[in-house]
Amino acid sequence: MTLDRLPLLASGKVRDIYDLDDRLLLVASDRVSTYDVVHPNTIPGKGAVLTGVSAFWFDKTAHIVPNHVVSYTDGVPDEARGRGVVVRKLQMLPIEAIVRGHITGSGWKDYQATGKVSGVELPAGLLESQELPVPIFTPSTKAELGLHDEAIDFARAAELLNDVAPDGDGDALATKVREAAIALYKFGHEHARSRGVILADTKFEFGLDPETGQLILGDEALTPDSSRYWPADEFEVGTTPPSFDKQYVRDWAVASGWDKTPPAPEIPAEVVKGTQERYAEAYERITGESLSSWLERTA
Ligand code: ATP
Ligand code: MG
Repeated sequence: MTLDRLPLLASGKVRDIYDLDDRLLLVASDRVSTYDVVHPNTIPGKGAVLTGVSAFWFDKTAHIVPNHVVSYTDGVPDEARGRGVVVRKLQMLPIEAIVRGHITGSGWKDYQATGKVSGVELPAGLLESQELPVPIFTPSTKAELGLHDEAIDFARAAELLNDVAPDGDGDALATKVREAAIALYKFGHEHARSRGVILADTKFEFGLDPETGQLILGDEALTPDSSRYWPADEFEVGTTPPSFDKQYVRDWAVASGWDKTPPAPEIPAEVVKGTQERYAEAYERITGESLSSWLERTA
């Protein structure tokens, strides 16, 4: 089977999703976007890094919460090996389960304006990027394509889950989601820290097994796309730390004079190469393995 013979269900900025009846094939492309605009050329190997990092974490966290992974080889066409994964089709929950261990990004903006993030009251006087006393669950809506996700408090998340919770108890389901998400974050944070990397925050997407109603971790797990990873040795409270993977290509995009509106410019060969190296390094920093070993395992 080749990819072009499979029914394409949806195509995000980065991933293509194919329908396999009760399963899905998720394929991370090598496309790269900066400032939400996709560039015309690709970063070869980037998709494999995203899928490989996810695979690493799904495997390591299966004792915390079961996940949707079926196979990285069976049902994955040759051309998508390394980038593709066959997963169980879940009933996805209509919220994004965000956990923050440091105050940064949109959380930092909300905190500055209100002293809170997603309704969670935080201590006064925090500096940008500072570590929080404990990681917090800050859910958001899952916006339709093109719209921006909106931070919501726990009560609103529970309300949104009323319709999908097996027994109509959105509050109980939201509580389960919060506990699982925080446990996953803590595990990821501790592991990353041991490898010289700070996991500042991350987003999970959960779903329900359509038959049993069991809570399952879906989508991607703790990838550089769904998370903020900072090199620990460059971390400085009170600043916006550089993100591990995209900073380099973003710096180039700004320096090129591009005004950040579509179309995005072609990335020159040497910047493609530098970006590839940084993605491979991100894989190696996080997993402790070489990217080629992942490619060999899934070939
Ligand atoms: P973005 O480019 O901002 O990430 P997106 O989230 O719409 O946009 P993708 O991440 O490529 O694009 O899409 C993955 C989609 O597949 C999401 O809507 C996600 O909720 C859904 N999904 C992930 N895992 C499963 C699963 N096991 N069953 C059903 N749907 C899933
Ligand atoms: Mg997504």
